[in-house]
Amino acid sequence: MARTHKNEIKTTGPPAPRDKLRKGNNDVPENPEDTDSTLVVVKRLKLHGPRPADPIEEDTHDQFCHLCHNGGDLLLCDECPRAACKAHFPDVFNLSVQDLEEVHFRCLACHFYQSMHAPDVKEQGKHKPYWGLYRKHEGGLLPWLAEPLRVEAPAHRAPHSRVNTAPIVIIHIRLADFADAGSPARATQTFLDPYYRTTRPDKLVYIDAPYCFDTVDDATSFRNGLTKKLGVLDQLPGARVLVFIFTHSEETSGDLFWTPSESSDSLQEWWAQVIPPALMTAGAKHEVTLAMLACGSLVQSPTQRQTLKSLAERMQVERVFAFGASAVLACFTGSFFMSFASSVLIAGMVVDDAHLARLLDASTLLARHTSVLLFAREKSGDHRLCVREYTWSHKKIQPWGQVLPMQCPSCRCVYTFVVKSGHDGHQHAYCSAKGCSYMSTYQKHADHVAIATGEQGAWMVRPLGPL
Ligand SMILES: [Zn+2]
Ligand SMILES: [Zn+2]
Ligand SMILES: [Zn+2]
Ligand SMILES: [Zn+2]
Repeated sequence: MARTHKNEIKTTGPPAPRDKLRKGNNDVPENPEDTDSTLVVVKRLKLHGPRPADPIEEDTHDQFCHLCHNGGDLLLCDECPRAACKAHFPDVFNLSVQDLEEVHFRCLACHFYQSMHAPDVKEQGKHKPYWGLYRKHEGGLLPWLAEPLRVEAPAHRAPHSRVNTAPIVIIHIRLADFADAGSPARATQTFLDPYYRTTRPDKLVYIDAPYCFDTVDDATSFRNGLTKKLGVLDQLPGARVLVFIFTHSEETSGDLFWTPSESSDSLQEWWAQVIPPALMTAGAKHEVTLAMLACGSLVQSPTQRQTLKSLAERMQVERVFAFGASAVLACFTGSFFMSFASSVLIAGMVVDDAHLARLLDASTLLARHTSVLLFAREKSGDHRLCVREYTWSHKKIQPWGQVLPMQCPSCRCVYTFVVKSGHDGHQHAYCSAKGCSYMSTYQKHADHVAIATGEQGAWMVRPLGPL
């Protein structure tokens, strides 16, 4: 049976009455109850009719269309969690309510993957017309319509893309002198909010956990407070958990701080005092991503990196992001984590080298500022982590990933370097100031491998005015 689902659309463009902005005071209602937000919600629910009979089953489906990321009048796939706007399938509007109840809907993604892996793929080829709507017949499925189903949708998204609105819990553990507002954690929550606000606001949870410890008692009460808030994880099975740890790390040891000016003396000790058992064990039931927003000394030394890796493995996290620059500007990481949330948590893309490189491409400030370390599972189910470092390389700005100085050390002119590739594979930066013959050489790190992203898009521009 094809299930359907209606919710609010998310785009900025639904039709609406147009009017000038009213002046402030005329607007204030006589009856203060008119502005009560719960009343507004009740009205909206009435407009949308009664709740579906089986909310638990309905809940496992995506709340937005996998083809356009919008909500509205949706068809739910009978074979996977994806949903799609009815509007992409004009023939569906000819079905009666009874037809809709009986029909079996197979989404485009399920069709695509079944065609790719069909037993007759050798003879028939991997592309088959899309029927989409089926009726059950003698234990099998027969096409509902006499002709393949028409689809009206752009080919923007990868076939396996979805809009996974399964619960997300963001935990922001931050040194109290770092603001929550504008932080990468808060930016990520704000970015995700439209996917949850209208349909399931209780499924996007944000826990702000500022800390500053002078004594062991401070740490204990912090852990107790956080443990209470983490109780929400038990109510949200299947929630993806995003833990941001936003703090200082000591310049040479890489140890994390207790207060804005006092460092711990070991990473294990910091972890034991800050991370409560409920979070240490969260990885057993949830997909946990750990984002270490601390300076690069945390991961520059192999021993400290190893300690972080074993702590993360004990938490059974899915992955850890950390940054290599000696002074990391956390604000540069915000756009990266928003891209990560959008394409990995929501669209369900896999974090492989090519995809991560594309995510990092969307964060140009970050790319120029720091390398990115990813601790990720070698294979799913195995909680051991492998560490990879991603460094942005640009022939003119960062030859082989190394920073070009702004000033020529010989003549002290600025912005003078011109980089040329040598026959030996090295990059040579020549000072172009008159009379200066300074040159420095950049060698490729033996282990560095260039990542092919396969991206071929480019922007174009044309003038539109003045008319
Ligand atoms: Zn499907
Ligand atoms: Zn759609
Ligand atoms: Zn064709
Ligand atoms: Zn020079």
